Amino acid sequence: MPGLVELVQEAERELTICNSCRYCEGYCAVFPAAELRTAFTTGDITYLANLCHDCRACYQACMYAPPHEFGINLPRALSEVRAETYAQYAWPRRLARHVRGNLATATIGAAGLGLALLTVWLTGGADRFFVAYDAPGAFYRIVPYLLMLVPALAVSCFFLAVVWFGAVRLIQGAGGSLQALLGPRVWIDAAADVLALRYLGGGGDECYYPGQDRPSAVRRVLHSCVFYGFVLAFASTVSAAILQELLHQEPPYPLLSVPVILGIAGGAGMIAGTSGLLWLKARSNRALGAAAMLRMDAAFLVVLDLAAITGLLTLALRTTPLLGTMLVLHLGVLAALYVTAPYGKFVHWVYRLAAILQHRVEESRLQA
Ligand code: SF4
Ligand code: SF4
Repeated sequence: MPGLVELVQEAERELTICNSCRYCEGYCAVFPAAELRTAFTTGDITYLANLCHDCRACYQACMYAPPHEFGINLPRALSEVRAETYAQYAWPRRLARHVRGNLATATIGAAGLGLALLTVWLTGGADRFFVAYDAPGAFYRIVPYLLMLVPALAVSCFFLAVVWFGAVRLIQGAGGSLQALLGPRVWIDAAADVLALRYLGGGGDECYYPGQDRPSAVRRVLHSCVFYGFVLAFASTVSAAILQELLHQEPPYPLLSVPVILGIAGGAGMIAGTSGLLWLKARSNRALGAAAMLRMDAAFLVVLDLAAITGLLTLALRTTPLLGTMLVLHLGVLAALYVTAPYGKFVHWVYRLAAILQHRVEESRLQA
């Protein structure tokens, strides 16, 4: 299997041809960003790889794609480098290669489930699995509050530290600096790109997914469901924390409360989006993407889908004797999501955001 050096060399070869051709410069940010460079460092290639949103419009348009002797397949070349980035920028790096596959994710999920079961058993007995609770504090009678909160906070802080250093390395590798990100304009422009999922648009014609012949908005719509579903689910958690910590109201909350409404909307969005993307990925052209990326995509989407499904089932069954079982299942899936987050596909939004910010900085310099 080619290592990072070979993958970077191949991406560099293809981007050098693209820089002479320039046919695709309206499709996405990758081509204008590449045109600002006469030579590419490894940091430049990593930056461009993370700027690519895999819409595949350039492959569809390319007159130098295989079987032409130039063999240009930029979506694949950049996806190979991107998959490698997630391992290179993770810490500890050695762990990244072992944790991000399907089997490892399933094993971590099973370990998380076992840990949650053990916690219930050690903190008061397994009979709590099958007793219906619906009074305030019901969840914490099954798994104590601090045993839910402390591990989640610890893993979240670790994730933030790992991706922060990774994002800084990406920006500095592309010749950027943190000082250049201090102005509001760059953030406003980058936020607009991210919120509209602009670069999933294939320059206006949408992505070539799942088929190669016809562009379709399906991928952008499904990605939006996952993205905004996740944002709503996060907002649900924050609103529940406010109710609990500031207003001293313990969960479960009524059906028509802010955390529950946001949670249902977010969970439904994530289930629709992740299930649809799994369907789309299964039908996509394997020749245009890295096999490692496809495996990471599948592991991440399945875990996110299961997190949303078990979350909604916990909500639906919260007044029944199945509450304990569903809550423990949900915590097991969340353990897999949290532990694999710094090493798998979950990090892609951080590096894409860093790359878009760097691109906006470079654009603003050109306009100045
Ligand atoms: S992908 Fe092909 S058509 Fe597009 S810029 Fe590169 S070489 Fe030219
Ligand atoms: S696949 Fe799409 S986003 Fe990636 S380089 Fe090609 S046109 Fe740009």
